[in-house]
Amino acid sequence: AQRREVSVFVRIRPTANFAHGLIECLPDGQTVNIYHRKDSRKLQDSKKGQLSSWSFRLEGVLQDVSQEEVYARVCQPVVQGALDGYNGTVMCFGQTGAGKTYTMTGSTESYKQRGIIPRALQEVFREVEKRTEHSISVHLSYLEIYNETLVDLLSPLQDSPQRPPRGMVVMEEPGRGVFIRDLSLHPVHSEEAALSLLFEGEMNRIIGSHAMNRNSSRSHCIFTLHIESRSQILSDAKYIASKLNLVDLAGSERLGKTGSEGQILKEATYINKSLSFLEQAILALADHRRDHVPFRQTKLTHALKDSLGGNCNTVLVANVYGEAAHIEETLSTLRFASRMKCVRSDPAVNEHIDP
Ligand code: ADP
Repeated sequence: AQRREVSVFVRIRPTANFAHGLIECLPDGQTVNIYHRKDSRKLQDSKKGQLSSWSFRLEGVLQDVSQEEVYARVCQPVVQGALDGYNGTVMCFGQTGAGKTYTMTGSTESYKQRGIIPRALQEVFREVEKRTEHSISVHLSYLEIYNETLVDLLSPLQDSPQRPPRGMVVMEEPGRGVFIRDLSLHPVHSEEAALSLLFEGEMNRIIGSHAMNRNSSRSHCIFTLHIESRSQILSDAKYIASKLNLVDLAGSERLGKTGSEGQILKEATYINKSLSFLEQAILALADHRRDHVPFRQTKLTHALKDSLGGNCNTVLVANVYGEAAHIEETLSTLRFASRMKCVRSDPAVNEHIDP
């Protein structure tokens, strides 16, 4: 298989107050420069007020780009790969409000503003109809990770008091890869059925966060299509199985230096920890001399283990604000994004043989 890098895009949220002079997108469509004054209190008088600059070269800088084009550039190749048997992951990363959910799910206000997930579902079911030489089955799951607790967003029994406590655990088995024990898997046969599960999951995410009195931006959500494809022509027992993970990560913003306590502090600590282990896992993957990658440190990296590693197409979208007020967070999001760029994956088809 061919070696490829993880693709990293930056998407800039549209604004009437674009920070011209601080954020510069070059005409190559791949480079974004940031100019920012460092904290002047720590500098000598002679250096005060000097601008520092950073240059990031990514797969693409998406500014004033439609949902349709974002899907085509970011996700379509990963969907096609998943139908051919390659695991795939598309992740949105960035501070709260920068456009992760808009990119992943989209706005319900208009059909044109649908995000990556509904478009991916549409394409998958179109392909299922087109690829008549294969029999393709699709199952969906929707997992939320909040403070290292796993929540099934598609389990109707979630909040029922009669419900026995579920033992959702990240598991690994040879031949099966990574899976979540007791996470519900829903067979779907049409785009409409898949969309209604997506909306059910979104509702459960909102209802659950209200019930627990927390903000839904504080959790990671992983929407997964489990695809199995069997040849209708060849009668051997081989089939290919793949997973397509569409991930809306928790807001990456750092806390102010003072004043955070209790639940807010606890959530931020879990988020920082999981994002920093995500980065560590990715850096370890990129370093070919290391054979141990620390996936098990957090639920997020463990659940995504076979979706970040070798056998997978991985895309990261770094969502940022285009405004001066958010320049520090924009810089830190872009730094994270450019560190992710160095991972290489080596996709291979997941072939299975029936026992
Ligand atoms: P996040 O998930 O990162 O917290 P959201 O996706 O909820 O952020 O975006 C915050 C607000 O900005 C929402 O009202 C969303 O509709 C809007 N928004 C974000 N990105 C865009 C975009 N590219 N075009 C139009 N509106 C956007």
